[in-house]
Amino acid sequence: MREQAPARVRFAPSPTGLPHVGNIRTAIFNWLWARHTGGQFVLRVEDTDRARLLPGAYEAILESLRWLGLDWDEGPEVGGPHAPYLQSERLPLYPQLAEDLIQRGAAYRCYCTPERLEALREQQRAARQPTGYDRHCRRLSGAERQRLAESRVPSVVRFAIPEAGKTSFVDLFRGEITFDNATLDDHVLLKSDGWPTYQWASVVDDHLMRITHVLRGEEWISSTPRHVLEYRAMGWELPRIGHFPLILGKDRTKLSKRHGATDVLTYRELGYLPEALFNFLVLLGWSKDDKTEILSCEEVIRSFDLGGVGVNPAIFDPDKLDWMNGYYIRQLDPDELARRVAPFLQRAGLLPADPLSADRWEYLRRIVPLIQERIKRLTEAVEYTDFFFRSTMEYESALLVPKGLTPLATREALTAAHRRLASSPAFDEQTLEGALRDLASELGLKT
Ligand code: GLU
Ligand code: ZN
Repeated sequence: MREQAPARVRFAPSPTGLPHVGNIRTAIFNWLWARHTGGQFVLRVEDTDRARLLPGAYEAILESLRWLGLDWDEGPEVGGPHAPYLQSERLPLYPQLAEDLIQRGAAYRCYCTPERLEALREQQRAARQPTGYDRHCRRLSGAERQRLAESRVPSVVRFAIPEAGKTSFVDLFRGEITFDNATLDDHVLLKSDGWPTYQWASVVDDHLMRITHVLRGEEWISSTPRHVLEYRAMGWELPRIGHFPLILGKDRTKLSKRHGATDVLTYRELGYLPEALFNFLVLLGWSKDDKTEILSCEEVIRSFDLGGVGVNPAIFDPDKLDWMNGYYIRQLDPDELARRVAPFLQRAGLLPADPLSADRWEYLRRIVPLIQERIKRLTEAVEYTDFFFRSTMEYESALLVPKGLTPLATREALTAAHRRLASSPAFDEQTLEGALRDLASELGLKT
């Protein structure tokens, strides 16, 4: 393995939704690249879209990362040399630097009203033209600009995309990607209330935080030429940039709720082990050698390289995740498995709430080997073991009647079995099995 300089990478989620497997796969790959190169993994929260903030999303992001063992070297709660790491706490930076862009002639104030912009969009749609800002305010005369600035009409700051030419960048995984500048409209950098947009805040912070590699999902490719132009206009050095392949469902459509759970903490609720989900997600877009499926975290850190990242969409196969989870469950020692299933049994009311007594732990520890080979998810422990925890059971009597036997004959057989068990001299596997086998042959029934 070629020696790599320590990378500074970032995971930059927006708390506008619960973190889903696509977000977390991005976090994992960035984390791995930091750990593989001995660099830093920075967590930066892009919370500038105030209208779309989702209560609880911020907490869910941190909790998802912690659950999967993705520790961050800089970010909320741990701080770091570039604190604060929430964009909402860095607000003065963005207008200051946008002013710089305006001075350089690479950005300008736009005074268009929402009504004008809406009418423009309508016109463009009716004419079947691509929608986008028409650069009206880019062409204002100095005097008009002066007048508007003094009139205190609300304004936004827009980036002035070069009117001709092309913008290219080299994607780490895909090679050169080129956009015609004519296809890019002048995007907003600062909103009228002074808050930055993603397109500006993300570039400013990647620069200020000295990020060496911007690694994110394919859905951001179309934003990248805008970022490249901003870096150039500011005279900033471009980080390396790579886009991970999309994650699709088995039907090759974009992964969504229709394909089952997509937010990561739901996988915890469903009884998946974090090490299994980690292993599974690592293989969505990266592979060690096209065949190794089971990789410990240490192994992945050792062998993770950007050359192993693909460009073809990765397919999310829930059956494979279940298989992998079952595999990881079988590798746990009984103490550990008991520890992992206990919260599920507690939630189902089979075990009392914490703390469990030593006796309870011992009991549970003896039970879990009986299900270890069979369960694929920790939640299944509830249905497979509940009879160990209840003194009365309820079931449909019809379920007890085997094929070829009447209910009456079934009852007789069960009554005889009960008598046999009650009078058994010892209550261990060998004795009971012998007694019941004898009874079966006496009654002429299959064991
Ligand atoms: N805040 C963006 C997101 O929600 C970050 C995209 C990027 O990594 O640049 O994913
Ligand atoms: Zn305008």
